Amino acid sequence: MNLILLGPPGAGKGTQAKMLMDRYGIPQISTGDILRAAVKDGTPMGLKAKSYMDAGALVPDEVVVGIVRERLQQDDCKDGFILDGFPRTVPQADALAEALSSLGRLLDAVVSLAVDVEVLVERLTGRRTCRDCGRGYHVKFAPPKVSGVCDACGGELLQRDDDREETIRRRLNVYDEQTSPLIAYYRQAGLLTEVDGMLSMDAVQEAILAHLGKEQARR
Ligand code: ADP
Ligand code: ADP
Ligand code: ZN
Repeated sequence: MNLILLGPPGAGKGTQAKMLMDRYGIPQISTGDILRAAVKDGTPMGLKAKSYMDAGALVPDEVVVGIVRERLQQDDCKDGFILDGFPRTVPQADALAEALSSLGRLLDAVVSLAVDVEVLVERLTGRRTCRDCGRGYHVKFAPPKVSGVCDACGGELLQRDDDREETIRRRLNVYDEQTSPLIAYYRQAGLLTEVDGMLSMDAVQEAILAHLGKEQARR
């Protein structure tokens, strides 16, 4: 299963990708996670990416395309992958099509998650992530048992630097201007399915699985 999860910041891409990863046993490829790891490690790519990320802007296409091209060739992607947060521009989508075609692979589906803007802001301001295991939480919608502490590993829960209201607004504008054209792009390619991302996490997952089940039956 070769999938893309498309949607604005806070739509639930990461949450759904992790659930699909467990279900299908295929990796989540989150360019945001890969970039944050590079920033943390202080690699040359991380140093280059940091200023864009802090500003809520997109990292240059050639950087993220390079990341994804390399990642798709790794062994664990041979049965499929879930792209989360990539592509985010039309040139990235074109580069992905080229990379997949040179690997002899096709996309199965592009799932677009739609969520109202005020809900996105609430989701992003309340998002927390475990420092140690990366598990995601929300202070209101998916709270840990003990405030600030990961249920799974006891690690400290952190808020992302770019999940502050001012940067969030900028990221939402960037989505509208640079990423939302991909909805029409993939609709035209016959790959798009739109899912109501306002539902509960489990209901969104069910809607995605129902669609993917139909796709599999069709093939
Ligand atoms: P979210 O899950 O909130 O949408 P991500 O973790 O996907 O955020 O991305 C965080 C930041 O990393 C983005 O604001 C951007 O600066 C950078 N980034 C991630 N993916 C891409 C991409 N495909 N193209 C350009 N920049 C990206
Ligand atoms: P994205 O990767 O698209 O930026 P996330 O999956 O990180 O989004 O979700 C953003 C925040 O909203 C997280 O704190 C997550 O726990 C929460 N969240 C995700 N999906 C839902 C949902 N369907 N209902 C309520 N909260 C959600
Ligand atoms: Zn943890």
